[in-house]
Amino acid sequence: MEHSELARRIISVFEPGGTLSQSIKGFEPRMQQRDMVESIINAWETNRDLVVEAGTGTGKTFSYLIPNMLLRKKMIVSTGTKNLQDQLIGRDIPLINMLFSELNYRAFALKGRSNYICLDRFYKIKSAVSKRYSPFRDIDVRELGETCRKLDDFMKENQNGDLSQFGPAGSQHLNKFRCGSSCGGENCPYAKNCYFRTARELAKESDLIVVNHSLLMYAYAKGSDEPDSEILPSVDVVVFDEAHKVPDYARAAFSSSVSNSSFEENLKEIEFYIGQKAPQVINDQQLTLPLEVTAQEEDKCRKLSAYVKNFRIELNSFARKVFGYLESQYPEFVHESRLQIVVRDLEEDPVIPELFVEFGKKAVQLQTELENLLNQYVDDDMQEQNRRSFNPLHSACEGISTLVENYLAVFKVELDKEDRKNYLTVFEADRVSASEFNFHLVQSKLKFADSYVERVFSKIQRAVYTSATLMVNGNFFDFASKLGIDPEQTSFMAYGSPFNYAGQGCLYLPYQGLPSGNDFDSVRAKKVFEQVKPLLRIIDGGFFILCTNMSVMRAIYGMLEQVVKGKRNIYLQGQHAKIEIMRRMQKDQNAVVVATSSFWEGVDVKGKALSCVVIDRLPFPNLSDPLTRALCNAADEEKPKSSFSRVMLPQMLLSLKQGVGRLIRSCSDYGVVMIADDRMNSSRSYVSTTYSNLPPFRVINTLKEVEEFWNRVKNNFPSENK
Ligand code: SF4
Repeated sequence: MEHSELARRIISVFEPGGTLSQSIKGFEPRMQQRDMVESIINAWETNRDLVVEAGTGTGKTFSYLIPNMLLRKKMIVSTGTKNLQDQLIGRDIPLINMLFSELNYRAFALKGRSNYICLDRFYKIKSAVSKRYSPFRDIDVRELGETCRKLDDFMKENQNGDLSQFGPAGSQHLNKFRCGSSCGGENCPYAKNCYFRTARELAKESDLIVVNHSLLMYAYAKGSDEPDSEILPSVDVVVFDEAHKVPDYARAAFSSSVSNSSFEENLKEIEFYIGQKAPQVINDQQLTLPLEVTAQEEDKCRKLSAYVKNFRIELNSFARKVFGYLESQYPEFVHESRLQIVVRDLEEDPVIPELFVEFGKKAVQLQTELENLLNQYVDDDMQEQNRRSFNPLHSACEGISTLVENYLAVFKVELDKEDRKNYLTVFEADRVSASEFNFHLVQSKLKFADSYVERVFSKIQRAVYTSATLMVNGNFFDFASKLGIDPEQTSFMAYGSPFNYAGQGCLYLPYQGLPSGNDFDSVRAKKVFEQVKPLLRIIDGGFFILCTNMSVMRAIYGMLEQVVKGKRNIYLQGQHAKIEIMRRMQKDQNAVVVATSSFWEGVDVKGKALSCVVIDRLPFPNLSDPLTRALCNAADEEKPKSSFSRVMLPQMLLSLKQGVGRLIRSCSDYGVVMIADDRMNSSRSYVSTTYSNLPPFRVINTLKEVEEFWNRVKNNFPSENK
């Protein structure tokens, strides 16, 4: 294709002798990167959207940032992980601005409102603390005062009010200070200095806004009359990096959910209101300073407090009745702390449907009661006058109405035999104590492509989706069909990795001793442990043991801890924050990390610090998960016996590609992947497909070969990565 002069200049930036080679020490021109840049330019020139898989090491971020920036496009970059956001804002965009000084691109990372301090809440709480009382039922005034002092200091040093920068110390009660649904908006006395509103304005004025997929879906999928639907300005292009996660976020955006914690959030807002007016009503505090509260106000607070108490009893009673009944009918539930049921499976049950209807009626009644309670005390004039002070009550009331509406809507879908085919409704109850239960009702859309096109894609002028893992079996069908991407309007491109996988890594598959797909967790853990032990003797770099479930993870960790004690540091997922584990791993250079799903992707540990990745089994989705089951049933209904090839295999291959992809992160990385699953040595039909979806590592089967490989490469790591 013949390009414009500007397009040719942009492409030349990436070529040997171009701006990047001249300006960045160690920059190696990569054909794949140049090609990806050209595909971005082609997308603009042909007026098409773009889906592009680019292997690890392509340099994807520069490939989409530089052309779009040099073309002066206003853009949103949506990511799946915080790591990538930090990399874009802290490293890539400033570097590009420096290399092309005429650009001066203003970039801003926008977060959801709950990430920011709400000044209105802060000053209300601080005022209560100064009068020596806590406006919260469950928080001591001294602890609250301590958090206020820390936040005061934090705000003096931190201009943007982003609570993720607050640090772990003293963050105990931060949730009480976050921006939430009870926002006065323009009527708030602090609107001018509000952190969230300022962030939103800065985003609007920026040329490039970095967000996460969750915020983007939330903002775009909302109706125009809902709060935060206008949070993102219109832009020329939305780039979805780590786009393999977009379908999951899209599904979540089109799911409805109701839980006792969502009701509880609103009930706590009511209590916050009571706590400011008449704290003695909610927490038996002996007030040292008299508060100006009239007898009428105190009476109102008492009625509200009684209402909140009653609501809590109803919520808990609902979950307890469902849990209790199922325990009596299904003995296997007696020892479970969590119960998960597909609502439809129990439609013929003589009791369960009744319980749901009963709670629906109760919820409507409670919602009406709250409205009456408010109207009793607040006439229209007073509402207007005191809009600000009544806001927590009104927003709580609206919040409860929305939840009740959601609850009723979920069952409306369930009752319609045609409508419900495309939905899965799951009720989950967790046992908190002997008599207390949390419940969660989630209705997920099985196919959401139409909703995505109508409510998200229609708001995007040009879309670019990119990731290292978008294709399954060499095509984009799975990804594109989930999102309803129109092949007529879209270019699909794939660029391999510039790494020499055959020389840099090996796939180790021992002939004997590997767990089978059906082994119990304890047997699997033991077999994986036995396979890892000799590898620890041979490979003196760091290890990732990636497990497919928590019980295997804990068992392997327990056994390995004894073996590596005093020789290496060993970390279990959850012991520290993920970022801290990665930092320690990089520092230790020979640590062992045992983890599950959250370490399968978005983790970047270079050099000898990560020299071996062990995968405990082929990560097929779990059929005990109701969503997986529902997707499989829907696929089989559409085309008999197609669920394995259309649901199970694609999901497994994408997860496996992500997990294996942790090993080689640069041209000077070396290491071994072991997939501890004897199905890889079998003649099952999907095994060759699995191999063809993995990087082209040399496959080895003996420890001798592992040793030979490791001895050959172990001194090749650059000194900063050794
Ligand atoms: S405008 Fe809303 S979020 Fe901002 S300080 Fe006021 S109440 Fe809080």
